[in-house]
Amino acid sequence: MNSMALLVQKFGGTSVGSLDRIRAVADLVKKTVEAGHRVVVVVSAMSGETDRLLHMASQIMPQPDEREVDVLLSSGERVTIALLAMALQAQGLAARSFTGRQVGIVTDGLHTKAQITRIAADRVREALAEGIIPVVAGFQGINEQSDVTTLGRGGSDLTAVALAAALKADRCVIYTDVDGVYTADPNVVPNARRLRKVSYEEMLEFASLGAKVLQTRSVTFAAKYRVPIEVKSSFREGEGTLVTQEDQDMERVLVSGVTGDRHQAKLTVVGVPDNPGIAARLFGPVADAAIVVDMIIQNISQDSLTDISFTVPRSDLPRALGLVRDIAKSIGARAVEVKEDIAKVSLVGVGMRSHSGVAAKMFEVLADEGINILMISTSEIKISCVIEEKYLELAMRSLHDAFELSRDNGGLS
Ligand code: ADP
Ligand code: ASP
Ligand code: MG
Repeated sequence: MNSMALLVQKFGGTSVGSLDRIRAVADLVKKTVEAGHRVVVVVSAMSGETDRLLHMASQIMPQPDEREVDVLLSSGERVTIALLAMALQAQGLAARSFTGRQVGIVTDGLHTKAQITRIAADRVREALAEGIIPVVAGFQGINEQSDVTTLGRGGSDLTAVALAAALKADRCVIYTDVDGVYTADPNVVPNARRLRKVSYEEMLEFASLGAKVLQTRSVTFAAKYRVPIEVKSSFREGEGTLVTQEDQDMERVLVSGVTGDRHQAKLTVVGVPDNPGIAARLFGPVADAAIVVDMIIQNISQDSLTDISFTVPRSDLPRALGLVRDIAKSIGARAVEVKEDIAKVSLVGVGMRSHSGVAAKMFEVLADEGINILMISTSEIKISCVIEEKYLELAMRSLHDAFELSRDNGGLS
């Protein structure tokens, strides 16, 4: 990194998971400052805290008011900004904590998954000008009514990228518990290989198909504003992964990686009258409720009745189910069935654009393991299969092996 760069450094939950870890992060920030850089820090809540808060809410009521959920969840990041500011001060550095509101991170009104609409960042600029290290709460903003909103799980990544864009920072460094983006989740596939560089486009597929190392929307944002992201370990020094525009020396491989996603559930509306307009009546209200439908399958109709299956995020299942049951009744469908123990395994790679045969090989590998495919979807640079959740890890490992992803050539041999 050139001298006197402006860096946004983001530390995820595990990186600030204990007081020792917070002290270690303060050391790392101190080193960066001593190397001559200006730093803006963004932190997540301590690991497990967001889940703990969500669990408490669900014990009060099954579907708590989302405005109150956001008030609750935003407390997690308040704790870590204060503690990290103190840890930096204890090191003799000038530091100051800021909430989303103080930074002027303004979002739309969609509680628990709000979109950022603008960032003022005046307080951050002022602090930097005074030589004070700003420590900003990730994951939170305010809507036009000044109510607290949150940016969806993993949303501190988005805070960091959006701040980097607003401040025209040289780089956004995402510090986490792995030292980069791998060909598969290294905690699932032990021989996964770290990628030195990944294009925004591939990273977007990785993220949206389940590689939670970067939040999907943070990648979209980074691509739009051309923010270079570096993913690194906060636990040990060394190289990471650069997420940037596609370039010449980026690995040109068939398959770049395997991802798994357990956060989906499958709904089947059974015995739907096979008439024009039925799909619109079914999916319109679901979309209006901001529930993202991923895969859809409509079976061949028999006696002018058909079954429609589709997947939704598991966290939206209670709401989706409520809606779909009502609609099913109104369109005269027979029943609504739910299957929660599913998972989606996907192969991603820009090389798929110019090579065929990846899908066939993927189906063969899954068949050889005796894994039944429940749903399939493809796009230009990915193929996804929905399978029984219990087979997910096996599927990921077998595909990683079959496409030789631990070797440098990504299955082109
Ligand atoms: P943080 O708390 O720092 O935000 P996350 O838990 O959100 O960290 O993301 C890091 C985790 O992402 C890793 O521990 C790893 O298990 C998981 N992961 C999933 N897929 C990948 C991948 N392809 N490369 C690296 N990590 C991955
Ligand atoms: N604390 C939030 C979460 O657990 C945001 C984040 O960690 O990025 O999802
Ligand atoms: Mg994360």
